[in-house]
Amino acid sequence: MEACAAYMFTCPQCGLDTPHALIDRKHDVVGIVCGHCRMPSIVRYDVFKCHQNRWEDELRDILNSLDNSGDDD
Ligand SMILES: [Zn+2]
Repeated sequence: MEACAAYMFTCPQCGLDTPHALIDRKHDVVGIVCGHCRMPSIVRYDVFKCHQNRWEDELRDILNSLDNSGDDD
């Protein structure tokens, strides 16, 4: 099991966008632990997944803009 994997999510406990450790997945929910307040949370998998996709899109945009800014054409 990948112990160091971290997933960005808005912590239901402290309300911050922080990396969460994924503990387990059961059917349509996942157990995650906030990297900031260390509080465990149970969230719906589709909500969690949706948040991941949003972060991945933002990351892709950031990487693309970095790529473009390095180009002088
Ligand atoms: Zn938290």
